[in-house]
Amino acid sequence: MTQGEATVVKNAGSHYELSALPQWRVFPAVLRGRIRLKASQITNPVAVGDRVRYEWADGEETAVITEVLPRENYVIRRSTNLSRQAHIIAANVDMAYLVVSLFFPEVKLPFLDRILVTCGVYGIPATVVLSKVDLYRELAPEQVDAFHSIYEGAGYRVIDTSVLTGEGIGELRDSCRGKINLFSGESGVGKSSLIKALDPALDPKIGQISTAHLQGKHTTSLYEMYPLSTGGYVIDSPGLRGFGLVDLEKEEIGKYFPEMLRASEGCRFTPCTHTHEPGCAVKAAVDEGVISPERYASYLGMLEEDKKFR
Ligand code: GDP
Ligand code: ZN
Repeated sequence: MTQGEATVVKNAGSHYELSALPQWRVFPAVLRGRIRLKASQITNPVAVGDRVRYEWADGEETAVITEVLPRENYVIRRSTNLSRQAHIIAANVDMAYLVVSLFFPEVKLPFLDRILVTCGVYGIPATVVLSKVDLYRELAPEQVDAFHSIYEGAGYRVIDTSVLTGEGIGELRDSCRGKINLFSGESGVGKSSLIKALDPALDPKIGQISTAHLQGKHTTSLYEMYPLSTGGYVIDSPGLRGFGLVDLEKEEIGKYFPEMLRASEGCRFTPCTHTHEPGCAVKAAVDEGVISPERYASYLGMLEEDKKFR
């Protein structure tokens, strides 16, 4: 009998693959029937990135997962917006890379802001990756600058990348080293190209979880982590939609806009929704141009939607 701790690197529904990171020596495992779900709306008790304890009896073909260790964080996807059922996409994520493009397809800032809020709620640090910069550095340099100013001003790191010129690829590689990295982005933003540029060895493997797969009932099961030859691990998560939904009280939303959280220390009232209250430091910061009007508009949009769902 062997016992140990390892990380789940593949969740294939009824069976799993584990590796004792940072070593990459993958072995199969199944779940012991006794592990039950505490939150019953979660459809998978074990997710990619989970650290688990296992036992491996002599002569058996697979190890048995006996315990899931406490998670630092996790991100879920609901099968539909209204579904109570949710699937854990990944656990213990060190960094989420939100890949967006200014054009083809055009990033919708309120949508990006919502995902950033979601990452904040889940406790996952987020980096914004602006892809295909070769396309618009010449065409629309002022829009690239504006994008940087909005998101860096809000407190996020923004990495410009191009797989054509190689810009930003080294920076991204450095940033991935030693970490579990979740890559997310709408179809067409260049996420697959980016992962291939990070490590050409991943070329045939990634992109197999297609959005078509996600439209099926089993939006589950096929998440997988890949080792980068330069260090670190990549989890490819198709589409940002679906994990944009979290239940937040309206007083809570502003706490997940880092620049608003900072400014809100000066608000006269607590809690403050930063809308109608007198002496609101967030509104003052918007008026002074310290907080970008785009981000504030996203915030107001989220407050409105929050009302609709209640
Ligand atoms: P995904 O759907 O996000 O995985 O996107 P892909 O990696 O398949 O890329 C979508 C399209 O964008 C393809 O036609 C790529 O050739 C193109 N593309 C990806 N990255 C870049 C880039 O850095 N520069 C340019 N000009 N085009 C890119
Ligand atoms: Zn306020």
